[in-house]
Amino acid sequence: MKEIVPAPPAIVRNDYESIRELFTRNVVPSYGRFELVLSHGAGSYVFDVAGKRYLDLGSGIAVCCLGHAHPAITEALVEQSKKLIHVSNLYFTEPQGRLAAELVKRIGAGKVFFANSGAEANEGLFKLARKFGHDEGRFEILTATNSFHGRTLAGIAATGQDKVKKGFEPMTPGFRHIPYNDLAAARAALSPATVAILIEGVQGEGGVTPATPEYLLGLRALCDEKKLLLLMDGVQCGHYRTGRFQSFQKILEGVPGGEKFLPDGLSMAKSLGGGFPIGAFWVRAPYADLLSAGTHGTTYGGTPLACAVALKVLEVLDRENLAEQAVKLGGWLKAEIERLAKTYPTVVKGARGMGFILGIELMEKIPAFAASDKTAALQFTNRLHAAGVLTVPAGSQIVRLLPPLNLKLEEAAEGISKIEEVIKGLV
Ligand SMILES: *Cc1c(COP(=O)(O)O)cnc(C)c1O
Repeated sequence: MKEIVPAPPAIVRNDYESIRELFTRNVVPSYGRFELVLSHGAGSYVFDVAGKRYLDLGSGIAVCCLGHAHPAITEALVEQSKKLIHVSNLYFTEPQGRLAAELVKRIGAGKVFFANSGAEANEGLFKLARKFGHDEGRFEILTATNSFHGRTLAGIAATGQDKVKKGFEPMTPGFRHIPYNDLAAARAALSPATVAILIEGVQGEGGVTPATPEYLLGLRALCDEKKLLLLMDGVQCGHYRTGRFQSFQKILEGVPGGEKFLPDGLSMAKSLGGGFPIGAFWVRAPYADLLSAGTHGTTYGGTPLACAVALKVLEVLDRENLAEQAVKLGGWLKAEIERLAKTYPTVVKGARGMGFILGIELMEKIPAFAASDKTAALQFTNRLHAAGVLTVPAGSQIVRLLPPLNLKLEEAAEGISKIEEVIKGLV
């Protein structure tokens, strides 16, 4: 496999090795990184330091929703940085106010707080829930097994996967996990201390599992009945990836009562800044003033620069009708993955997800993978690298496709043909 790539010129090989060496010596080794050193990108493609081109179907884990080096993002960065990059939240600035209004318009009546990442946005939701239940002594938040909510101390307590908690005990108290898409289990798990339920509309890290419409509507009714906050983590599945601004809007499309559905709090990040770091959470109107002056804050949150970029991303998504593109091309991609599952049943088990949050589910025992103790998802991803495609593994069996929303049909077709090539090599 290695030898498909011609040996790069000596000087380039030095780049690769010297950059790897910088990491080995100086960067905390908390990531299991792929052996790729990337240097630049253009649209749906990125290039490594040897000049090899990769079709980026992961977009930096659902972040670069307009692909790489988009001129509108570059222009927003340059223009806003000439005016004002940062002043702190001691003052009002126009981009933050305008971005909040754009998000409220797309979600529902409420208000927005700006942070810098997904984990931080979720931290804000945890604080909102604690504030909400404080006078009654309620503080417990139920989250789903296989969920992912970030790597801060409360984030790993909220995340329903043991691997993120291991070695960092004791866990922040006040989180318990319930099986996803199981309404009866949610009801049965409630305690007098429960104050909120937090779920992803589509579980991303957990392996691309959408919530069912019945689960969303059922949780809404349960939370209303028991005076709980219904919180949603839209960090990965939000921002039009499913074809609607938020996944619950897509999941509940055409479902009776669905158009009225709103959570009480919603976190966002990843695609929000199209690659520039920004996070946010939205709070539904009745609770929008719970976090009063002095109760929550962050120095960087909602800088004019981050907000100007996020506004530009929304403008381009609207102008180019990219939500529709995610539905159409995502549907095409999913059908192609289903075709691959039919054609190569010993390798591909099936397709998961919707829009541009998709999963290729691999079979449990692929003979070609038996020699290595790496997961099937990792080995498949590595072979795709050799073929010139970037994807993101989820768990041991699932390879995620999280393409930029402006992916073109011929790029999607190129991706599928290279994925098929890799599959053929495994049969
Ligand atoms: C990525 C992710 C987070 C964490 O976001 P960071 O920006 O990495 O802190 C939280 N929730 C979900 C669903 C995510 O996919």
